[in-house]
Amino acid sequence: MNDTVLCKTNEIEYLQFKKLLEFQDDLIHAYTLKTYGIGFKKYESDNIANESYEKLCKAFEINKECLIHPNQQHTDNICEYNKETSIIFNEADGIITNLPNMATTLTFSDCLAILLYDPKNKIIANIHSGWKGTTKRIGVKAAYKMIKNYNCKAENIICCFGPSIRKDDFLVNDDVKEIFENEFREVVKKNNIIEETEYSNEKGKQYRIDTVLINKILLKELGLIEENIIDSNLCTVCNRDMFHSRRIEGEKYQANASLMMLKGTK
Ligand SMILES: [Zn+2]
Repeated sequence: MNDTVLCKTNEIEYLQFKKLLEFQDDLIHAYTLKTYGIGFKKYESDNIANESYEKLCKAFEINKECLIHPNQQHTDNICEYNKETSIIFNEADGIITNLPNMATTLTFSDCLAILLYDPKNKIIANIHSGWKGTTKRIGVKAAYKMIKNYNCKAENIICCFGPSIRKDDFLVNDDVKEIFENEFREVVKKNNIIEETEYSNEKGKQYRIDTVLINKILLKELGLIEENIIDSNLCTVCNRDMFHSRRIEGEKYQANASLMMLKGTK
């Protein structure tokens, strides 16, 4: 956890990346912990998500009207908010913006949070990338949009990977393994992405897949530099006392949130 710090108020606890804190005059960011009963998945039967959003806003002195959370559906749709031509999707798993005071939030319960930031051009991208999003390359698509639509340089983009289910706990069967093999042929061949295990379940043999490494390789292929790619190295399953995990919590699971917001100009 050398690249992250834990912070807390009386009501909410969250993780921050040291690399992004270097730019805290311009940028607010956080990844929430589950402590204090915090959770961001909305259920009609309780008010936990609303209360959690309120506590998150309070911690960062954000006006609740500034909150943006898209309808996440494991897509590769990325909403873009800017002065010229905003692009909004009914379902989306990422938000890019160069506008201040847009409190972008996404929710996670084992899926990977990808936080992209260009400190030169002051552009943020807050991305939700589960295994499906990873096969659709949503992380690298977001970075590409930052370059193409906002004149970012790949070498300036900082990428932080939040907590997620990691390779050791991400066991899949042949169906999912084959999707990754077909989608990432060369990457899978050259790197230690897929590992056979001695385990099996009712669907057959099980494999482990390193989805974080795939994301990292794709971003490096786009031109991001090693030292700007920061991994929290935290597994949500192994750290179930800190983070919500769908695999651990079952049907009525709760979710962690990522927050990114550009501060207003002085
Ligand atoms: Zn784990």
